[in-house]
Amino acid sequence: MSKKNESVRRPLLMQKKNGYDLLSKKDLEGMDEYCSEYLCLMNRAKTEREFVRESVNLAETAGFKPLSRCAKLKPGDKVYKSIRDKGLCLAVIGKEPLERGVNIVAAHIDSPRLDLKPNPLSEEGGMAYFKTHYYGGIKKYQWVAIPLELRGVVALKSGQVIDVCVGAEPGDPVFTITDLLPHLGADQMKKNMAEGVTGEALRALLGSRPDLEDEGENRIKLTVLGILNEKYGIEEEDFLSAELSLVPGFRASELGFDRSMLAAYGHDDRVCSFAGLKAMLELDVPEKTAVCILADKEEIGSCGVSGTQSQAYDTFIEDLCEQDGSKLRVCYENSFCLSCDVTNAHDPLYADVDEIQNATEINYGVGICKYTGARGKSGASDASAEVMGRLRAAFARDGILWQSSDMGKVDKGGGGTVAVYFANRNIDTVDAGVPVLSMHAPYEVVSKLDTFMTYKAAKAIYRGV
Ligand code: MN
Ligand code: MN
Repeated sequence: MSKKNESVRRPLLMQKKNGYDLLSKKDLEGMDEYCSEYLCLMNRAKTEREFVRESVNLAETAGFKPLSRCAKLKPGDKVYKSIRDKGLCLAVIGKEPLERGVNIVAAHIDSPRLDLKPNPLSEEGGMAYFKTHYYGGIKKYQWVAIPLELRGVVALKSGQVIDVCVGAEPGDPVFTITDLLPHLGADQMKKNMAEGVTGEALRALLGSRPDLEDEGENRIKLTVLGILNEKYGIEEEDFLSAELSLVPGFRASELGFDRSMLAAYGHDDRVCSFAGLKAMLELDVPEKTAVCILADKEEIGSCGVSGTQSQAYDTFIEDLCEQDGSKLRVCYENSFCLSCDVTNAHDPLYADVDEIQNATEINYGVGICKYTGARGKSGASDASAEVMGRLRAAFARDGILWQSSDMGKVDKGGGGTVAVYFANRNIDTVDAGVPVLSMHAPYEVVSKLDTFMTYKAAKAIYRGV
């Protein structure tokens, strides 16, 4: 038997091609510009609050206004609503009534990090520390012996909320968590990687100078508190009403001689959040209303008032519905949601976790996940064939380079996204996003091509699915 003619083989077999072989010259140029804007934002926004603040600035410049329940909206109007300063909803009103449904791109803006404990300041061995409780799924050993920045807010009893950002500006001090020297690390090195560094050992070093005007206990802590009081007007008790996080002090940067990749803290999921945001800011008047949701708390289960399980997000869409007398439940029934979250990029250094035919590779475009979950798809929203078909058609219409994604071999592990919470609202939902190397590490890697393609994918969703 001979090999079938190419004209027969080609249409039948799925061809997986490197995105660079398919990318147009125009896209190649647009990609670099888009990615440098993204990198800029990544150096400014390392917490969900900072991302909301930066997004609101960009949105207002693009003509978005805070949503007012009194104002009547018309097609082309651009509105936003902050969810407790930690989540953000934006919309561009479409030509069709809300009951015809909305097209949503939903991503999350929280990332794994080290949160300070409610009573964090301690002194031991002549040094002062912040005790932390990690947020999200981390490999603890990755967070020691790297530079850390302190970012967040402190709410004073007066009601005043103070912004804190230390370590980001040139000349700023940084913090770090110490690790054991190899010379004395023999016992530690025999432990497995989950146990080598414990959660309680994630204590950040922040001072060593005693207060010379004091002869009592905790003179080093006292020096630190003196500095904090002078700079921010805070006392030790104020930590209780604070949200302070230690985040990696790395600069977001192009990666590689060919500059084809981007390294940064928090690509998961700000790389998709920026895609959803940027596409929304450039939107003209869509047929159906387009909604961008940038949510908090995904990394810990989407719970709480600012996570996607919160009614805050329903309230935003319900407020839009009320403008033209639409019912929220009817709107949901006719809506589409792209749960835009990162996926695992195949890493040849750890090839054995993937089943390569269904793995996502960098530079092959946005990764579409029909389902997430673990152990028999448990906890997944599992998009229907019809919904997958609609997505494929929209991506084909707009020239989106995509690949399918199944995270890891069967029973190797898994993950979740916000998809299930939108699907639970009776909204047709699919997961898709940028493949990431070193996901959840303090420094993550994505490719420019996939990053840009995900922005184009968000545009396609707003245009209509
Ligand atoms: Mn994510
Ligand atoms: Mn994650």
